[in-house]
Amino acid sequence: MMAPQETITIASPLTGWVTPLEDVPDPVFAGRMLGDGVAIDPTEGMLRAPGAGRIVSVHTAGHAVTIELDAGPVLLLHIGLDTVALSGEGFQPQVAEGDRVSDGDVLIAFDLALLARRARSLVTPMVVTNGEAFRISASAPAGAIAAGDMLLQLEPLVSAGGGQGLLSPEIMEDLAERTLRLPLAHGLHARPAARLSALAASHGAVLEVMAPDGRTASMRSAVAVLALSLSHGTRVTLRARGVGAVAALDAVCTLIESGMDEYLAVGQDIPGQRPAAAAITLPRRLGGGVAVPGIAIGPAWHVAVRHSECSDQGKGIEIEREELATALAHVRARLCEKAQAAGPLAAIAAGHAAMLDDPELEAGAIAAIAAGRSAGAAWSAAIARFAEPLRASPDKRFAERVADLLDIEQSVLAALSGQPGDSALPPLGAILVGGDILPSQLMALAGAGLAGIACGAGGTTSHVAIIAAGLGLPMLCSLGPAVDLIEPGTQLMIRDGHFTVDPSESEMASARAAAASLADLRRAAEARSAEPAVTRDGARIEVFANLGSLTDAHASVSAGAEGCGLLRTEFLFLGRSVPPTIEEQRQAYQDIADALGPRPLIVRTLDIGADKPVPWLAQPHEENPALGLRGIRLQLANAALLEDQLRALVAIHAPGGLRVMLPMVSDLAEIAEARRTLSRLAREMGRPMPDLGIMVETPAAALLAGSFAAEADFFSIGSNDLSQYTLARDRTTASVAAGLDALHPAVLRLIVETVKGARKHGRWTGLCGGLAADPVAVPLLVGLGLDELSAPPAAVAMTKQVIRGLDRQACEALARRALNLPDADAVRALASLVLEDAQ
Ligand code: PEP
Ligand code: MG
Repeated sequence: MMAPQETITIASPLTGWVTPLEDVPDPVFAGRMLGDGVAIDPTEGMLRAPGAGRIVSVHTAGHAVTIELDAGPVLLLHIGLDTVALSGEGFQPQVAEGDRVSDGDVLIAFDLALLARRARSLVTPMVVTNGEAFRISASAPAGAIAAGDMLLQLEPLVSAGGGQGLLSPEIMEDLAERTLRLPLAHGLHARPAARLSALAASHGAVLEVMAPDGRTASMRSAVAVLALSLSHGTRVTLRARGVGAVAALDAVCTLIESGMDEYLAVGQDIPGQRPAAAAITLPRRLGGGVAVPGIAIGPAWHVAVRHSECSDQGKGIEIEREELATALAHVRARLCEKAQAAGPLAAIAAGHAAMLDDPELEAGAIAAIAAGRSAGAAWSAAIARFAEPLRASPDKRFAERVADLLDIEQSVLAALSGQPGDSALPPLGAILVGGDILPSQLMALAGAGLAGIACGAGGTTSHVAIIAAGLGLPMLCSLGPAVDLIEPGTQLMIRDGHFTVDPSESEMASARAAAASLADLRRAAEARSAEPAVTRDGARIEVFANLGSLTDAHASVSAGAEGCGLLRTEFLFLGRSVPPTIEEQRQAYQDIADALGPRPLIVRTLDIGADKPVPWLAQPHEENPALGLRGIRLQLANAALLEDQLRALVAIHAPGGLRVMLPMVSDLAEIAEARRTLSRLAREMGRPMPDLGIMVETPAAALLAGSFAAEADFFSIGSNDLSQYTLARDRTTASVAAGLDALHPAVLRLIVETVKGARKHGRWTGLCGGLAADPVAVPLLVGLGLDELSAPPAAVAMTKQVIRGLDRQACEALARRALNLPDADAVRALASLVLEDAQ
């Protein structure tokens, strides 16, 4: 009879929130490449021993420690994600390799407030690295946990018998060795070590890595490799023995020399570390992302530095709670005041006020105060917990919402430190410059007569960008750290996606002339915004607006939109801990329908997925989220999500008519299933069946449009995704997204297929991606036979004005030529000529 297996209890090394390992936003941990385990989102900065044992290694960057418990399990504890890049800043290891520790001893003290600001994520995985000897039999449930509470139970595994020697005599013949210097910016830390070990495991040869001091580790053990603490530039010796040794070593060298996504030539500065003052220089001309197009000239004026420092330890629970409550009340009052005004500023202030009032946010902060932290540190920790899933998202629209959370974080910290919220005013006509500009900082300067904005960070869909667009301020973003070097008062010019420092007289004169003709065109567009868009030869093209809120709906009506061509309903589902109820949804859709009045409303059902995380839906990690469970696939897999949304939609009264649109369709069966649900609900609720259409975002939908049109009442081309999937360029990956131009002839050919397929069944085709707002694309879209174009409200008047200058037949000739051109640049050049002739 076998002896009963003894259960080993592992204590929580942190106070915080238990998170399943698969929810850690890092494939190495989520994919269990380093072993099985669990993660904790810490609310205090003390990593403690999860049991008595011996320290196997402490990483030189101080962020990770490996401990061998006396009971046998070897655990890796890794504070935060990508924290190796901090190079030790914020970490104070209290133990060293070889030390003996008791249960609960402090292993590493860390500065939670600093990590909350600087690290990608605070979530701290703890993994069992000798999983061949132990398995997890129980784990504490997701939720709050205190350091020392039971976190895991492990059971020893019985050896399958004998084990196998590493080397058998017949595999001894091959032997290979190579020495190289590590071109990995952060050395062989957890992620590259795991990739190396996965590669080593796929080869029969025995692979080893040797540090300059002779310490050697088997490459199959990521933890052993990690324990060598090999930093960037270290000279390492790699050895392979046994069958296929040479090939295995080649593969390993190739992987290491690739830099594993962290390539940094040996001898360069390490990104992420504070560069030496001389490392960054301010070029005369610098390119960035165009958040708001336009031309601006004016003196530089820097945004005020944020108030973010505060002590970690509280002065007492009652005192800190009261200070937090006072600060929250102060910030709430200021936001509510701003929310009374009109326009996007008010909506963003209202959104911030709603975030501020989120009960989980406050509860998180109160819990951290109860654990002894100061109000400021507790508030930052609570914000960090919300911000992490958003920050981890490769989808910019979600990742950029982090700025809103940081904004309310800073507002509360400023109130806690007793500082007034609004900063001094810039001179009239200034260009606002900042490494990172927060929505509240721009809101405070709304009436200051700025000329433009140059932002080091941020993206084109950030709230700062939205506010800037609402204020009509040309804005460049993602300019990098050099913007901090601009001397206040220096003359700057923004034009064509670049800013120029101290532009010459002739550069300024040319920019002023271009700005004047753009302004003329804009004035003409605005003067005629309410008129329909009809080409010179009488073809009527409907111009609708893309909406993401009630504010957008009001703006679109003033801008002359003839309807809503795309309501992105994600705005209702983000940044909250539970999904909206049917009634909440119904009310929001009804408000938008009322704002549109007699104009048609096309509502896209929820388009979230693994790359657009929402805290209330468990989404398993996916290697390729863009190709994963998203859009209609996710809604069909979560039937209640689709049904609730359709129920809310069917219940509204849309004076201009309601149409429902499905995102990311690639199969006829998806439309058929959604149609069955929609018609059943309409029948049950005694309401008319709305038109049901689809977004054409996949090449499959475009190529099969002829058969899809039997099930879909209309098509709207999502040119953003259609180009991403056609050109195999991830729209969220900066290095390839720059080459993502939807005017590529391959995308244009798919548009032709879609229009042809739609016409076979007498359906109409619109386009609601970014192309509809690109004046150069408009002649082509008219020529390709689109019936409707849907653009952001701010672009509607201009798109209409461009159409008015066109001749449909000339556009058709242009489209025919464009389809045979080799690339997007050639198409753009040709279409630009046609556009110039037309205006
Ligand atoms: C598109 O893909 O073009 C589109 C309009 O949808 P989204 O940008 O929301 O993915
Ligand atoms: Mg899309």
